[in-house]
Amino acid sequence: MSNLRFKVVEAAFCKKPLEVIQPKERPTEYFAKYVFTQEKMFKYLPLSTYRKLREVIEKGTALDIHIANEVANGMKQWAIDMGVTHCTHWFQPLTEGTAEKHDSFIEPDGKGSVIEEFSGKQLIQQEPDASSFPNGGIRSTFEARGYSAWDPASPVFIVGDTLMIPTVFIAYTGEALDYKAPLKKSLLAVDKAATAVAQLFNPDVRRVSVNLGWEQEYFLVDEGLYAARPDLLLTGRTLMGHDSAKNQQMEDHYFGAIPARVAAFMKELEIQALELGIPCKTRHNEVAPNQFELAPIYEECNLAVDHNMLIMSLMRNVARKHGFRCLLHEKPFAGINGSGKHCNWSLSTDTGILLHAPGKTSEENLRFITFIVETLMAVYRHNGVLKASIMSATNAHRLGGHEAPPAIISSFLGTELSRLLDEIENTKEDKLFSVSGKHSMELDIPQIPELTVDNTDRNRTSPFAFTGNRFEFRAAGSSANCASAMLLLNTAAAEALTSFRQRVDALIADGEDKTEAILSVLRDDIRTCRPIHFDGNGYSEEWKKEAQRRGLDCETSCPLTFDRYLDPETIQMFESMHVMNRNELAARNEIKFETYQKKVQIEARVLGDLAMNHIIPVATKYQSKLIDNVHKVYEIYPKEKAQELTAYNLQIIENINKHTSFIATAVDEMVEKRKAANTIANIRDKAIAYHDTIEPYFESIRYHIDKLELIVEDEMWTLPKYRELLFIR
Ligand code: ADP
Ligand code: MG
Repeated sequence: MSNLRFKVVEAAFCKKPLEVIQPKERPTEYFAKYVFTQEKMFKYLPLSTYRKLREVIEKGTALDIHIANEVANGMKQWAIDMGVTHCTHWFQPLTEGTAEKHDSFIEPDGKGSVIEEFSGKQLIQQEPDASSFPNGGIRSTFEARGYSAWDPASPVFIVGDTLMIPTVFIAYTGEALDYKAPLKKSLLAVDKAATAVAQLFNPDVRRVSVNLGWEQEYFLVDEGLYAARPDLLLTGRTLMGHDSAKNQQMEDHYFGAIPARVAAFMKELEIQALELGIPCKTRHNEVAPNQFELAPIYEECNLAVDHNMLIMSLMRNVARKHGFRCLLHEKPFAGINGSGKHCNWSLSTDTGILLHAPGKTSEENLRFITFIVETLMAVYRHNGVLKASIMSATNAHRLGGHEAPPAIISSFLGTELSRLLDEIENTKEDKLFSVSGKHSMELDIPQIPELTVDNTDRNRTSPFAFTGNRFEFRAAGSSANCASAMLLLNTAAAEALTSFRQRVDALIADGEDKTEAILSVLRDDIRTCRPIHFDGNGYSEEWKKEAQRRGLDCETSCPLTFDRYLDPETIQMFESMHVMNRNELAARNEIKFETYQKKVQIEARVLGDLAMNHIIPVATKYQSKLIDNVHKVYEIYPKEKAQELTAYNLQIIENINKHTSFIATAVDEMVEKRKAANTIANIRDKAIAYHDTIEPYFESIRYHIDKLELIVEDEMWTLPKYRELLFIR
């Protein structure tokens, strides 16, 4: 780095002193300090109210307004004791973030003063004037109003001076305008379908819930350097930047020692998260320089989703306090790993995890296999739309990169489980029955070898891998609301399990023995969903060809992938499971197309601006400097000598010209394509035009800019370079 540039970068570097928080208490003492937990409910609510609220939370019964009033009263008391002055309904609109609108507790007392009030009505329902949230036409077509309604299954919490109330956000017609409403419906659908299946093995099962353990990856960059990169600031990713000579090739960052500044950030983030009841467990460096990961202990899916939304906003805030910017974009830097959000998914009953490697009894073994196979069926049937659920303008840059699963959904099972499924599929019914006879049927199941699926091999290239007691959905993007993927997976699993139970019941009704019926349906299903099972290298080129042969969805265009939401089988699935109707799905797709198109449009504009008013001027300035030098050489040397001495600079002058003229032409063309695309009225077609005709310019323009970065004198280059952005000091 030249001296001048060094000074510039130094000046930009954040100068905040290292601030390491030292809590006075142990985590056990401050865990959930800011959450209205059961313990606090017990303390602040009359006993009968407390009991009724528990029933609402645990059994999903309706909450009547009298109870709500008493609950609100208790909550208010707790909040006031904690110094809170405001409350807000906190919801998850389809923008992927969260939304809140604060109201203070004060109400006029009629005598010129105020009292602090918080009623049951305010707790359970509000009508935020949220007309600017994307709604895909649902509200404009039907009714302008949108309501937020309390979700008692996710506890209220305090941030700063505000009581935050997790809510669903729905239109007047009851149609969902958010992620939480359909997520909750999908959880109900799984509960119903999975309980019916689990009861085949154990009639005492009352309830099945979904667990989610997310792993959040992110980057940190210095705040000062970030501010000097308009592309990062406006799009969340770098649209240009030559590789740093050293990046992740030494693999020295992964699990490496955490730099002091980052450690201080992580520590404060964890304390704040624990205070909000988020059970943070793991933190470590990730593969790319400046990339990190945080994972909590898994929780019930609805709560886990809320906690993930909350942690993303905590990350952004705490990072700024430590002089960083937290990048949640899936691919902030080209050439190094991007960030995902692995979603670890499992089902459990009141008695334990259903996807856990089998127990000792034949019933447990068969139950385990049933849930595995039906999950695979769900993923197989809906692999296209499952991909759509994790697809976005930002995640599209990561999928299929060398570090992330390709844009094809498949499932890894490991050798042990694969062998087991093969065995079940290939055991001839004859053999099974002739060996042991109908009565000893049960004896045949224990022949399934003692499993040690916990020790299953790992395969990081698979988007949907079985990992011992759960499936790990690795394709989800780091910035996404995981509800999008979870509600899809839940609904698909509910559908598969419902169909399974129906088919088993039909065979039993025909007089077949229960175990025999289960095995027979399983055999069919193992055969049917075979194409989704792939244990090989998901990053390889051969897999792409093989997946095509198997009929899996291999579409890579982001907007075309969204079409899967409106396939008849998707609509059928969502409608039959009572999660969403056709109208809601169509509305969501409108929003997806629009969001996609706008993001690409913003990137195109930022790239064009930077190219024309940063890159070309800087390159031209450097070029003039070289031309100047050439003239001067000719002034003091005889022509022949001058020719020899200026050969190298003349070459560079020409190179600069080649690159700048390419950039200028390409930017012009890109602007023209944008103008054309902007006249398209249909939002789907517009999104496709942005994908097909505008995005392709990004790579080629960037290529020439990055070449210029290598040529132009270091101290003249205005933008912080990868080598500066990527190494925290
Ligand atoms: P790895 O990086 O090897 O996948 P991590 O420890 O980073 O492992 O993350 C594992 C995640 O899986 C954690 O969030 C953990 O809580 C979650 N998890 C573990 N068991 C289950 C389960 N049965 N259901 C859902 N999530 C689980
Ligand atoms: Mg993982």
